[in-house]
Amino acid sequence: MKNDGWGKASPSRQTIEQKSQIRDSLMAIKVCKFGGTSLADAVQFRKVEAIIKADPERRYVVPSAPGKRSPHDKKITDLLYLCHAHVQQEIPFDDVFNIIADRYLGIVADLGLKLDLKNELASVKKTIAATAAAGDPADYAASRGEYLSGLILAALLGYDFVDPADVILFDSRGRFDGERTQETLARRLKKHERAVVPGFYGSVPGGGIKTFSRGGSDISGAIVARGVAAGVYENWTDVNGLLMADPRIVPNPRHIAVVTYKELRELAYMGATVLHDEAIFPVRIAGIPVNIRNTNQPQHPGTMIVQDAAPMASRGSITG
Ligand code: ASP
Repeated sequence: MKNDGWGKASPSRQTIEQKSQIRDSLMAIKVCKFGGTSLADAVQFRKVEAIIKADPERRYVVPSAPGKRSPHDKKITDLLYLCHAHVQQEIPFDDVFNIIADRYLGIVADLGLKLDLKNELASVKKTIAATAAAGDPADYAASRGEYLSGLILAALLGYDFVDPADVILFDSRGRFDGERTQETLARRLKKHERAVVPGFYGSVPGGGIKTFSRGGSDISGAIVARGVAAGVYENWTDVNGLLMADPRIVPNPRHIAVVTYKELRELAYMGATVLHDEAIFPVRIAGIPVNIRNTNQPQHPGTMIVQDAAPMASRGSITG
């Protein structure tokens, strides 16, 4: 290969493949986790699509299950737990399951997708009935919210679907196995330039489904971010990030642009509802910054959570 004297290959001699390799190496990878309110209905799915399409670096997407559309609405995950409980108590669960099925089929129809979810839903219903009747824990039932969200999002974005049961691994005692997961996830995601990896669950040896604690899609997102050595972990929710004080106590508190992991822990200790320590751990040890963003206001830069920053004194002070 010809060298232009600056230690780089001459652009005119670069093959298309080399050019795209260089482009890829210059591009940071962004992992984007979307919470339940960001995927509550077709309108929200469209916002997510626009956010992903706006930035080619957003290559890996970790969705939650559809959340509430209004204060009195139901979260899909809560309904799935309810299905499991109904079977355990030998109460018919068709009505509850139909609410879930209608919600997903409505989203697919409103998005105009050619995705046949009917068979998936029938198999989910059958397996919930079988696992609950066998006395298994509710993990399988609960995990299907993210699984079905992921199928829809992958179809909408044209991204590959990677089932976390294959890549997010727990040990036989149900404890998350970080090392095996890291190795498996990194190897697998290298084969997918762009993929949707549903949040909240993985599997135990033998293939049984295991979920994290409630709200655990944040953890999945951080694990995926570490797995692909992301430049940033974007956590998309329905607020513009963190505030200097609790808005229920202090009117119009100032927005926090940058906060360190350590300060975040203090905030959580003082009672602020922010990402919990367990969720941050995989990205904190890998030194990956977290950017909390608002799906409903994507132009807002949100809050950056970083390892080190200028002393808080120069940025104003925080109270929980
Ligand atoms: N859908 C799960 C829950 O409601 C996990 C998550 O949203 O992070 O807890």
